[in-house]
Amino acid sequence: MNGEDIERYSRQIRFAPIGQAGQKKLIDSHVAIVGMGALGSVSAQHLVRSGVGKLRIIDRDVLEWSNLQRQVLYTEDDVRRMLPKAAAAAERLTSINSSVAIEPIIAELSPMNAESLLGDVDLIIDGSDNFFVRYLMNDISLKLRIPWIYGGVVGASGMTMTILPHETPCFRCLFPVSIEAGAADTCETAGVISPAVDLIASIQATEALKWLSGSVDALHGTLLQADLWNNHWTPLKVSRSKRKDCPACGEQHYHYLEQGEQELAAASLCGRNTIQISPGRTMTVSLDQLASRLAPIGAVERNPFLLRFKRDESISIVLFPDGRALIQGTEDLLLAKRIYNEIYGL
Ligand SMILES: [Zn+2]
Repeated sequence: MNGEDIERYSRQIRFAPIGQAGQKKLIDSHVAIVGMGALGSVSAQHLVRSGVGKLRIIDRDVLEWSNLQRQVLYTEDDVRRMLPKAAAAAERLTSINSSVAIEPIIAELSPMNAESLLGDVDLIIDGSDNFFVRYLMNDISLKLRIPWIYGGVVGASGMTMTILPHETPCFRCLFPVSIEAGAADTCETAGVISPAVDLIASIQATEALKWLSGSVDALHGTLLQADLWNNHWTPLKVSRSKRKDCPACGEQHYHYLEQGEQELAAASLCGRNTIQISPGRTMTVSLDQLASRLAPIGAVERNPFLLRFKRDESISIVLFPDGRALIQGTEDLLLAKRIYNEIYGL
């Protein structure tokens, strides 16, 4: 640690459980955050200010006006610039602490890229909003023995748990069955308030600081639930919830990681009246060529990261250089696929 580090992190170093030794460990650590929405924004900000050495931020989405109410890293200007969340976050985080190496990844975490995106980090933080991605993180965590910190918030309630692979219960021990889309409340249906997100993400970030600086005994060791509106705080003891017959940590079958490309090539519903289409194979698209091809049939806007094509009043399509597309303004899967195929002439 140099003199600048000692000055910058002085208040944190003075906090006895961290101290100089803990700070040094933080500076030497590499963390990934999956999902840079509301939870990811708060976690990332805390970790970057704390001086984590390297931070990889992974997010598939482009900023929208409805994000600003709770996704604290972003500004109106970011929305106007049509920035992907990962790109806007990288810009902001670098301006907060330029000594942290920020690596923005504009992509969806999938079985195809999970090992390469998460395999080299010390810790994974959940900023996602869906169960498939969480089961995937859980599989990676167990397979590669990397801890991860689950967090989820809906309405004014949230929960979080720190998973130490093959030590604590895993996510599938506690949530053995995937909650099908539509069965659970989501932020789409039940809304969400910003302080609830802050609370859960702050607990996640604190757990990260404990783990990374070496205070393993201080981890809360529970499935911590909080309802801020009704003032209910419930730390559920989970030390006995590790299941021998858990397919993931017990039998070491990593089903989510093993899902083939086939299943992924399909479209997925993102909520928000948006459908995501993934090409299911490696693809490199020239946004310039695409822009000149699409310009005669609709309005085209672009920035270095993406192209937005307004096909008509109701539907616009966001196209990324890796072939991925977000079809905004519909929940009709067949229509979205047809539009995608029209654009790429498949
Ligand atoms: Zn398990």
